[in-house]
Amino acid sequence: MHIIHLDVDQELDKHLAGEKYSESLQQALQSIDPADITGITMKTGSRADAVTLSHFPVLKLLITRTVGMDHIDLEYCKKQGIEVKNILDYGAFNIAEHVFALLLSGTRNILSTQKEIHDGTFTFKGHLGVSLKGKILGVVGTGRIGLEVISRANAFGMKVLAYDVYQNVEAQKERGFEYVSLVELAKKSDIITLHTPLLDSTRHMVNSALIQLMKDGIILINTARGELVDTAALIDNIKKFRWIGLDVLEGEKDFTKDHPLLKFQNVVITPHVAFYSDASVKKIAEETARMSV
Ligand code: NAD
Repeated sequence: MHIIHLDVDQELDKHLAGEKYSESLQQALQSIDPADITGITMKTGSRADAVTLSHFPVLKLLITRTVGMDHIDLEYCKKQGIEVKNILDYGAFNIAEHVFALLLSGTRNILSTQKEIHDGTFTFKGHLGVSLKGKILGVVGTGRIGLEVISRANAFGMKVLAYDVYQNVEAQKERGFEYVSLVELAKKSDIITLHTPLLDSTRHMVNSALIQLMKDGIILINTARGELVDTAALIDNIKKFRWIGLDVLEGEKDFTKDHPLLKFQNVVITPHVAFYSDASVKKIAEETARMSV
């Protein structure tokens, strides 16, 4: 087997052995000889489309070190007999931890106090926090990540409402939350966190109509996909939100310092880092090595 690892950043580089490149598949094609390459591992920085893959005459295995596979032409791979594998779970707890980092940074004024601190002012006045205990958390999507979030919400003493097209009754009993409709979740929640994949049915699920139903002072956290939220509607209704924490943005690949959400004090944005931790990088390296043999 001749396997190459593409899109390797410096952290993964420390844990993954073998022939590694920081470049994407498209960039690496300029310098490597694809003639005897039988396996490729990559991330979403690479596009495994038919034209690119046709340069690899003996390719047998394609591994994406991601959950999603929308950057791969699966039909082409099937026709050519190329086995495609992905990493199903590199630690849903990482994303759940990041949900609470985004949430607590707002509810406990971690970010909003920094300017005064740097100006030499040390006072609690004007920085009233929001307790999580007793608050209603609305979890949209009770898959791997949603359930990890619910476990942590239980530890904070929150009441959890959930919405999913598929109801996981066993998890509901185990973790003691209640399934409701999306409308009821929007109306009753103090905090809403999104954990569904991006599908036609979930695109812009947080839109103007849903926002109108929400309580004033609602908190929204999105670590799933930016396109779940209609950003224009969010901006139109920005005063309704006490706090918005986003790890993902609509069209995040084209992000610039002129992004319209940056001018609001009640919005915090992180650059799609929820998955990225010491634990997940190790796990991704281990899974990649295991699947490569
Ligand atoms: P999962 O497949 O385990 O769970 C998704 C859940 O969404 C399922 O329970 C499914 O039934 C539900 N669902 C599907 N369509 C729905 C709809 N129309 N309405 C309501 N619920 C619906 O996925 P997961 O591992 O929990 O990941 C959730 C999402 O988080 C991923 O799809 C991905 O977009 C995102 N994600 C983000 C990061 C990050 O770094 N920010 C990392 C990993 C995953």
